[in-house]
Amino acid sequence: MQKDAVVKLEDISFKYSNEVILNHINLEIYDKEFITLLGPSGCGKTTTLRIIAGFETPDEGSVYFEGEKINDVPPHKRSVNTVFQKYALFPHLNVFDNVAFGLKLKKLSKKEIEQKVKAMLAVVDLKGYEKRPVKALSGGQQQRVAIARALVCDPKVVLLDEPLGALDLKLRKDMQIELKQLQQKTQKTFVYVTHDQEEALTMSDRVVVMNNGVIAQIGTPEEVYNEPVNAFVADFIGEANIINGTMLEDCKVKILGKTLNCVDKGFGKNAPVDVVIRPEDIEVIPPEEAQLVGVVEDVVFKGVHFEMSVRCENCQWLIHSTVAQKVGEKIGMTVSPDNIQIMHKMFLNPNNEIFTEVYYSDKEQNTTTFLLEGEEVTIPDTFFEEGEKLHIVLPPDALYIAGDGVGQLDEVYIESVIWKGEHNEIILESDERKWLMHSDVDEQVATYVPVCFDFSKATVERAEEAEDEV
Ligand code: ADP
Ligand code: MG
Repeated sequence: MQKDAVVKLEDISFKYSNEVILNHINLEIYDKEFITLLGPSGCGKTTTLRIIAGFETPDEGSVYFEGEKINDVPPHKRSVNTVFQKYALFPHLNVFDNVAFGLKLKKLSKKEIEQKVKAMLAVVDLKGYEKRPVKALSGGQQQRVAIARALVCDPKVVLLDEPLGALDLKLRKDMQIELKQLQQKTQKTFVYVTHDQEEALTMSDRVVVMNNGVIAQIGTPEEVYNEPVNAFVADFIGEANIINGTMLEDCKVKILGKTLNCVDKGFGKNAPVDVVIRPEDIEVIPPEEAQLVGVVEDVVFKGVHFEMSVRCENCQWLIHSTVAQKVGEKIGMTVSPDNIQIMHKMFLNPNNEIFTEVYYSDKEQNTTTFLLEGEEVTIPDTFFEEGEKLHIVLPPDALYIAGDGVGQLDEVYIESVIWKGEHNEIILESDERKWLMHSDVDEQVATYVPVCFDFSKATVERAEEAEDEV
């Protein structure tokens, strides 16, 4: 089916001062769809909306509206209205005047304004509330006024930036359904922003999963849940067991020393991959019939199912089952091939390699110092002559997050933290590159931390042969 893009973002990049906020974003938003930008706080969702609305101009790339480039079109000339997280209603105006505000700016006749506002208030279920001061309304009602105010100007596209964020859970759930119905009733294109994956899956025709200024995946709720493209998406959406595996050949993957059948192809032979298995897709069977055997460590009743934590080799698995097993019991586990999802590794080179040269060295102290992103880093118990070229390999467990002030890189961004059954796999971003770190600690994504290296775990050698690769 050929679909029309009402908004198109083409290769959009955007910086604040020198920090990259959006990194080559491509997105087509179809007419009349409910599309949601989903991702952790700070990943660039609001910035993307502001670019569509015209409040920001991209540094690179083009914004199209119905096929026409609109980079230089000011916000009020775009057929787009925004509903903000803080409703931004005028507190001194009543419901009618809040909703009428945009129409008055457009200089419509009094009669026309009255007609449109009344019709819109009926749509959002606020008939008869015209004269109420907005301060006298509940949170949910204020939210409906904000939505009516955006819709009454009849924009093609409505942008909604975490509009339900301030409501409590019960009301938020009700409003999710209302908003979705409203979108269907009005036949508008809704571009919705949330960091709540459940909300995104409930409401959207399509979900755009964002991470650190890039789009990780675009798909229907079913697609991003069942066929996540990488460990970040699998981890962010729903609960998941994500483990390291090796794709032996098409449809054969090795995890925890066992070869399992799967349905994925095209990863090559003996390729390192990430494997995701959802907790509800693991079936408990008698251990003597099973390839995977584990010991139940924890059982929690969750209403519909039991959530069990099972230790299998060095890995901890999460299983949802309607039958409770006993703690300490040995169980067998099986997963049908189409419930094993194979994903490309997010980080291709698991060894953090550094190509550099000796800045200075101290024979007496037996130390070698090099420059890393402008900072001096001293390797103990290692001596190389000044100016010599070095090839340093830091395995992921040679990196750790230091206390303040002792970092060898001071401000490193935590891009993702993914539990791999036995440790967290953490992707870090410094000024010039990315790093892979293993840690038992659950670090906070989208924060800046100082990072240190343990050179006793590193290999440091002369880089004669490697020189050409730099
Ligand atoms: P999200 O909506 O996904 O939480 P934003 O688009 O608001 O993310 O922000 C993306 C990044 O841009 C964040 O790192 C944020 O700190 C930064 N940022 C947002 N607004 C500004 C600003 N006015 N000046 C500098 N940095 C900003
Ligand atoms: Mg935001």
